[in-house]
Amino acid sequence: METPLAFPALHASHAGIWMGRNDGQVQSIGKGEAAGRAAETPMVMLNAPLVAQRLGYPDLSGLDLLELYAFVYPARFAVPTPKGLAKALGLDAPATDQEVPIFLLHAARHLLSVLGEADWVEREGAWDSAQALMRLRWPWANLVLAQLKKPERPERWLFSRLPEWEEAPPRTPPRVVTLQADAVQERLASLVGGSAETRQGQRDFAQAAAEIFSPRKGKSEPHMVLAEAGTGIGKTLGYLAPASLWATAADGTVWISTFTKALQRQLVREAKRIYPDHETFKSKVVVRKGRENYLCLLNLEDALQGGFAGRAAILAHLVARWAAYSHDGDMIGGDLPGWLPTLFRRNGSTALTDRRGECIYAGCPHYKKCFIERAARASVQADIVIANHALMMVNAARGRDEQNQPSRIIFDEGHHLFDAADSMFSAALTGQETIELRRWVIGPEGKARGRRRGLSARLADVASYDEEGGLAIEMARVAAEALPGDGWLARLAEGTPSGPIEHLLAAIRAMVFARDETNATESGYGLETELADPDPNVIDAAADAAIALEALARPLTMLGQRLEAMIADPPDWLDASARARVEGATASLSWRIDTLRAWISMLARALGPVDPEYVDWLAIDRFEGREMDIGMHRRWLDPMKPVAEIVLKPSHGVLATSATLRSGGDWQNAEARTGALHLDKPATHFSASSPFDYSAQAEVLIVTDIKKGDAAALAGAYASLITASGGGALGLFTAIRRLRSTYARIADRLARDGLPLFAQHVDPIDTGTLVDIFRDDPHASLLGTDALRDGVDVPGHSLRLVIMEQIPWPRPDILHRARRLKHGGMEYDDRIIRAKMAQAFGRLIRSAGDKGHFVLLSSAVPSRLLTAFPPGTPVRRVTLEEAVQFVKSGLSSDTILRQDRKDMLEESNPI
Ligand code: SF4
Repeated sequence: METPLAFPALHASHAGIWMGRNDGQVQSIGKGEAAGRAAETPMVMLNAPLVAQRLGYPDLSGLDLLELYAFVYPARFAVPTPKGLAKALGLDAPATDQEVPIFLLHAARHLLSVLGEADWVEREGAWDSAQALMRLRWPWANLVLAQLKKPERPERWLFSRLPEWEEAPPRTPPRVVTLQADAVQERLASLVGGSAETRQGQRDFAQAAAEIFSPRKGKSEPHMVLAEAGTGIGKTLGYLAPASLWATAADGTVWISTFTKALQRQLVREAKRIYPDHETFKSKVVVRKGRENYLCLLNLEDALQGGFAGRAAILAHLVARWAAYSHDGDMIGGDLPGWLPTLFRRNGSTALTDRRGECIYAGCPHYKKCFIERAARASVQADIVIANHALMMVNAARGRDEQNQPSRIIFDEGHHLFDAADSMFSAALTGQETIELRRWVIGPEGKARGRRRGLSARLADVASYDEEGGLAIEMARVAAEALPGDGWLARLAEGTPSGPIEHLLAAIRAMVFARDETNATESGYGLETELADPDPNVIDAAADAAIALEALARPLTMLGQRLEAMIADPPDWLDASARARVEGATASLSWRIDTLRAWISMLARALGPVDPEYVDWLAIDRFEGREMDIGMHRRWLDPMKPVAEIVLKPSHGVLATSATLRSGGDWQNAEARTGALHLDKPATHFSASSPFDYSAQAEVLIVTDIKKGDAAALAGAYASLITASGGGALGLFTAIRRLRSTYARIADRLARDGLPLFAQHVDPIDTGTLVDIFRDDPHASLLGTDALRDGVDVPGHSLRLVIMEQIPWPRPDILHRARRLKHGGMEYDDRIIRAKMAQAFGRLIRSAGDKGHFVLLSSAVPSRLLTAFPPGTPVRRVTLEEAVQFVKSGLSSDTILRQDRKDMLEESNPI
């Protein structure tokens, strides 16, 4: 039976605002009235921050159904829309906006009634959680407690409920095996499945991939295969076949690294074909991410025990509900709904992960249950580890366990390797980075809350045992006071910097403002200038800063030596858990020392000659006029050099694959972008073109009559094209400003026609959830920037139109200029543009049944860039009006307006 509910419900979309009552009455109301009513009476709503944005009333709060859903069904997926919620709850979805308020009330009653059901799976822990939430004045708490029965016996709480991981013996090195070609093909056929036939391209791909498992001929000479395989080849099963075969025969681990979460999820699905039994799958396939993705139980405990207040504390309790039922504790791409932190305006969710490397390892009371430790241990014993490029690079740069370094690696989405390496092997001596280091050494200062502790608190037992170690900790604490502290940005703005690093940042800030040539001062976005012929103030401040950083690096290095000596010759009190903690501290210490050394070397550059391996510059990061960070930056001119040394050469076999591996260039380009160029043994090349019939499935329309810089015309073009396709459009922008202005001009208009529009950087919803919403509604359209160009995998009818606002020119910044100079000027630019266009086009046709248009709103697209599209794809230059007709009429096999279309085809100008 459904629970009675006395509150009204509110729904706001771009098409209007509606309020519904329990008696079934619904009325359309204005923004002001809705905000006024919501301030007086709590109202049931779905996604309060989104409703608040639609009303233009940021302080709106109420009974958010998504929070109730997260309490009742933690760790269960739901798309946060009325339709998505209806699907998750098994209810009928509302057909119109007007029906939504009554549906929301129905869904609320339904969710509350679940709490009384005997077979509710997520009951354990709910009573205690609801009690705590009531003390925090969670709006749903009273309604929830009215339905929950007090348990007869005390229930297991989160920390006792989670299983402990087991310590396993180290794994022996893999056996030497040679994979036979027929065995690889047999495995592929069995993975593809009984009735389905393997295609020649996929068979060839699997064979090429198998080469990386051949025994290595020489030290530091891995088998490297570069394989470009067009969309639809089936490359994941193509490499999983030899990988799983080798893992079993050799008793070794294959690491598969991806760039996007979408591919990571696909790999998990496909790996289930290798190990259909659930328990076997769990032990053989492990998903690994960077530690900052996982919930830190110690941080959560701290948040639950008063470290968090107000709304952040409510979020912590809902996260605790989730953690008890989560599969792996991954807060970013796992089973925590991506929308949950955004309901709390990201209030504190990042503080629940271990972002600053403050883990105390075996000193932590939750060490044996820690999600991060569990995933790390499981990966040692696994056959297949599914990781991402960022983690591979972090492990390579900061790995502390050389025994378990990956030896057989598959980089899928290999065209992103360069960017992943570029950001990992970079250095930034900025205000934000240095204040992080200060906090890591000193711990909380002033009114800071929480458990964050400094070095001396974390290593108190070391200090009491080892006099020199204790002295080093104290010297480091004193030296860290030279780093920027809270309020540094304000002090810089007021011209009152404090300490040598803040003085350096102030000198950098003045020099950047003086020399910036981008004319961006008024735009409110980032400013930069080369580190060339520095201002005397910068030179003086850099010399003082280098002395201050040396004064910190020295005691930290000494401390590292003391800790290593302690591990080599352990004192009596150093039991297994203390040892693990000291080892953990050594690892995070050496990472900090490396960072300090990199900063000192950058400062030496400011004072001395140029190092041709690096590009150095000074920058002020700004967002909408607000200064966010200031400092000195360094990138490798070719970041694949360190990758080749640290990742490729020590391995035995590496496959780099992607649909666009050559990134619109030749194999030389692929060699450069994957690091193969730096290997002594040449890489093998393989390519297989897509089996899709692009001439029948897709069409590229280049719209020639939208004037550059005409915001109204741009927005009008988007609206016309989205209307013509009836939604299902992905709109890609190269500038957030233009995205916002387009969205603001057309969202209401489209909504009134039943075509909802969502946008990154506008809607208070995370990108993953935006894509889920888009996928779930074939009438919805989505606008976004870079992350959407390569991270959207929406096969089928939901994505049938991609609109790109203009040619994606590379940002003409200092780093780009240096690389452009080295790699061939305009041809380098062209390769980047072609790669971006190919990636964007790749969103459109994901399966053999997909059809759609790719529209480029740019009058002057040089023909040399058109090789970005797969061979055979028709490309036409048309006016907007013609493009609208093309989109409306669909592709050639559709019947609507076929004759009009035929006429237009004859008139338009195929390229
Ligand atoms: S072991 Fe480290 S990361 Fe894990 S819960 Fe404890 S402090 Fe957090």
